Amino acid sequence: MKCLSCGAEIENGEKFCTNCGTPVPQVEEKKEAPEPVKKPERKRHRALSPWGYFGLEFLYFIPVIGLLFLIILSFSRNINVRNFTRSYWCALLVFLIAAIVGTAVLYATGYSGQVINYISELMQSLPKF
Ligand SMILES: [Zn+2]
Repeated sequence: MKCLSCGAEIENGEKFCTNCGTPVPQVEEKKEAPEPVKKPERKRHRALSPWGYFGLEFLYFIPVIGLLFLIILSFSRNINVRNFTRSYWCALLVFLIAAIVGTAVLYATGYSGQVINYISELMQSLPKF
């Protein structure tokens, strides 16, 4: 390479120009930037076992308490729990719409009285404690 100051030829490895003494800019070898160490995300992505899903579903099925857990676990840190809980909301919504439509159809067709009679007969036939 050539000296930046006087233009004399400098041999590789020299730190100063042999002609004028100007320091030779050292070409630094580019060091590979170390990959940022990712924190283990095992907790956030930990898979749920089939029994885990079963347990969650059972939990959500409990009146009132289940709803509470549904709301809380919709924001769970574990992505699998979070997604499962949110999908449960969708299933609940579909179930609610079906129940509303079903009830409306029963009333509209005039079968609601018969259904109510059937249910009350069923209740009476249950063993008393
Ligand atoms: Zn020089």
